Amino acid sequence: MDSRKDRTPGPAARKLVILDRDGVINVDSDQFIKSKEEWVPLPGSLEAIGRLNQAGYRVVVATNQSGVGRGLFDMATLGAMHAKMSKLAAAAGGRIDAVFFCPHTAADACDCRKPKPGMFQEIARRYETDLTGVPAVGDSLRDLQAAAAVGAKPHLVLTGKGKKTLAAGNLPEGTRVHDSLQAFVNDLLAEEDAKSV
Ligand SMILES: [Mg+2]
Ligand SMILES: [Zn+2]
Repeated sequence: MDSRKDRTPGPAARKLVILDRDGVINVDSDQFIKSKEEWVPLPGSLEAIGRLNQAGYRVVVATNQSGVGRGLFDMATLGAMHAKMSKLAAAAGGRIDAVFFCPHTAADACDCRKPKPGMFQEIARRYETDLTGVPAVGDSLRDLQAAAAVGAKPHLVLTGKGKKTLAAGNLPEGTRVHDSLQAFVNDLLAEEDAKSV
């Protein structure tokens, strides 16, 4: 479930942001992102992660990857995509602390496939922290629902499937909407500044 490299038990006080992957960090496709080559960052997303890091946030990814369960790509390929993501993030001054993923299909009825909150609960355990109020960014309703289920703060971005998600409505109460991951980071850091004054 977890490709976290750094196993140092982090103090709960460290600020956390949870991101969906496809349509938030990288370009999404209805045909699935099936290879390292198909994994292409959205403009500015990796720099936005860097800005979160500089502001003291750990950035964690929680992503449904049912393409594994469907046999469209294997775990080694998924690992290669995430190695590319980390490498490009590092080049942009960003660090992804860990990637939590669900490899199952809906038919597996697992606890980790969003909108189920299993990955979020796992993050809470690994970071020994309560996720209440922790910002969670996604482009699909199920991302927001999984976040809301653990008391995290849902943020919808309008990249990826975001515009469709917004149009379909029924967003969890308190969902905030941003044009992109950069816009989310701008808003989050501006609010922090406002609070610290
Ligand atoms: Mg997505
Ligand atoms: Zn799962």
